[in-house]
Amino acid sequence: MTKHVFITGGVVSSLGKGLTTACIGALLEARGLRVRIQKFDPYINVDAGTMNPFQHGEVYVTVDGGETDLDLGHYERYTAAPITRSSNITSGRIYHNVISKERKGAYLGGCVQVVPHITNEIKAHIRQHDGPDVDLVLSELGGTVGDIEGMAFMEAFRQFAYENGRENTAFVHLTLVPYLRSSGELKTKPTQQSVGVLRQIGVQPDVLVCRTERPLTQEMRDKIAMFCNVEKQYVFDERDVEHSIYELPLQLQQAGLDEALIRRLGLKAGPAKLDAWQDLVHRVLNPQGTVDIAVVGKYVELKDAYKSVYEAIDHGGIANRVEVKVHRINAEELNDDNAGKMLRGMAGILVPGGFGERGIEGKISAVRFARENRVPYYGLCLGMQIAVIEFARHVAGMTDANSSEFSRDTRHPVITLLKDQRNVKDMGGTMRLGAQPCKLAEGTASRVAYGAELVQERHRHRYEFNNEFRSRLIEKGLVVAGLNPDLDLVEICELKDHPFFVGVQFHPEFQSKPLKPHPLFAAFVKAAVERAKSR
Ligand code: GLN
Repeated sequence: MTKHVFITGGVVSSLGKGLTTACIGALLEARGLRVRIQKFDPYINVDAGTMNPFQHGEVYVTVDGGETDLDLGHYERYTAAPITRSSNITSGRIYHNVISKERKGAYLGGCVQVVPHITNEIKAHIRQHDGPDVDLVLSELGGTVGDIEGMAFMEAFRQFAYENGRENTAFVHLTLVPYLRSSGELKTKPTQQSVGVLRQIGVQPDVLVCRTERPLTQEMRDKIAMFCNVEKQYVFDERDVEHSIYELPLQLQQAGLDEALIRRLGLKAGPAKLDAWQDLVHRVLNPQGTVDIAVVGKYVELKDAYKSVYEAIDHGGIANRVEVKVHRINAEELNDDNAGKMLRGMAGILVPGGFGERGIEGKISAVRFARENRVPYYGLCLGMQIAVIEFARHVAGMTDANSSEFSRDTRHPVITLLKDQRNVKDMGGTMRLGAQPCKLAEGTASRVAYGAELVQERHRHRYEFNNEFRSRLIEKGLVVAGLNPDLDLVEICELKDHPFFVGVQFHPEFQSKPLKPHPLFAAFVKAAVERAKSR
């Protein structure tokens, strides 16, 4: 029988609930259990695809083209659990399903209500992975308990536990135990109150994970246990990790969180196999140098906007045993005159994906600087398109070259709308999305990095390299290093006579894991290390 763990958060958002959920998944897998992970998000958007990064951070793309919450990235990076579009269930999707059924007459004669119709639909999704091949499903709820919009989910979780049997279901609640500097104390009241809210809804948490800056004393732990009605052995603290987030799985394992869940749910599990994580942490904590890399984007103040990109850069550092210092550069402040100053000392320059005109010219200046000064360059999606525009303008002499996303009347639309996008009217879920094959050309940097001829990478875009300009750009020295074999779309561009200059139309960052760094990120950081050494 498949067991279930629900993970909720209290007191404040941004406690790192997604990361903690991913770590729990990793630990249970390390104990030999077959785990699935899913996220329930209370917002009304059917998926995360229509939200900008300011609202909700990066849109994470799954292999099957789902546009999802970025927490799914944590799940995929830390575990082997298959993650697809159905791993992220929003209120919007739940309501959409129920309303579609209502229109088809599925509830004929009935009044359709939050309880039971919405809650039943949620429960059906909770069970989507149940079966003999799955030992345990982790379901994380977005937001904070007490949020109005999360109520139907909490009610569904409660009902589910009631029906599924409490012995087969566990609730993990992540809370904050703040430290008050003025009085020099850790405070347990917010935790008590947030568990109070849970209990009002009818949910008694089994495990409390208390986020703290300082270790909890046994006395505090006992107090929290007593007032939250949770067994003492199930109260954990999760301190801010000292050096690296990769320490977290080991920290939680040492605290016994995996064992607690295994015990509570009566699961049979083996000893923890965490050698790979231990080795990883050792590598991260003992780098053999540092390297400076600029990420030129529009959301510089938001760490979450390019979450997977930053993570994948880190992985590239791990592969090369160096610490990567990422410098977030605001594209809007960059131009040809100040690029030298703003990018001074950078051993690598990366332009991530993006939409809309803001910051485009600054990104073009960054690419120009990288090309002319032989600084390793790595462009992701929009970052490849920018590289093509820059090359067309300054090498191929098409001075007004642009993407038709940014200019309607350019005579050189070197980047243009994909054919099958021309009649698209709806904005939700209609981009070119998900994994697509890419065939790599012999002798290119990409081919060397991947060590394979055919790869699969995830996409999320509407515009593409315009094949009408292909031969002209190739003549001037642009290298088409990767092609979609079915559609003849240019997926990778490189430059000859440059230490590393690779632009990819896809998002390789979604396939990079700390234990399995993406080959292109590893190659980019390697080139940056060489650049740093040579100076
Ligand atoms: N805006 C560009 C497009 O739609 C790039 C998209 C991206 O970087 N994800 O093609």
